[in-house]
Amino acid sequence: MSSGGYKPKWTPEEDAVLIANYRLPETELRNLFPSRQSSGIRHRISALRKVGTIPAGTKRNNAINWDEQLPVVIRMHRAGHTFRAIAAIVGCSADAISNKMRMRAICDDNPKPTRIRRSCLRCTKSFTAQGRFNRLCDDCGAQARSCAFA
Ligand SMILES: [Zn+2]
Repeated sequence: MSSGGYKPKWTPEEDAVLIANYRLPETELRNLFPSRQSSGIRHRISALRKVGTIPAGTKRNNAINWDEQLPVVIRMHRAGHTFRAIAAIVGCSADAISNKMRMRAICDDNPKPTRIRRSCLRCTKSFTAQGRFNRLCDDCGAQARSCAFA
């Protein structure tokens, strides 16, 4: 008896599903192929990669452009998606997502003053806001303060 067990050949249909979904986390791939083991799925992915059916450079831990992806991650996270689901979209591990979100939470606790171009709520003049609560230009802000303390 062979120790490897019976390994049915991959059908073209299965290959098509795998090619479309190879970026998904392993647990979700296993749901797509309930009759296969994760090692079999992994081997098939690397076999398809060798023949060029799956692009070679698209490993899950590819360098990710976080400047681009972070807003996507945050939006999905706010919408209630799991780290795992977000990771599948971004193309990295769920751990990477949770690390990113933790780092972001730390940043949020220590907000740096952000300078944003805004139009003044009072005179609609465009000005550089010193933070997210700064809604009046310098002139109107000074006026508002002098009124408040008059
Ligand atoms: Zn103003």
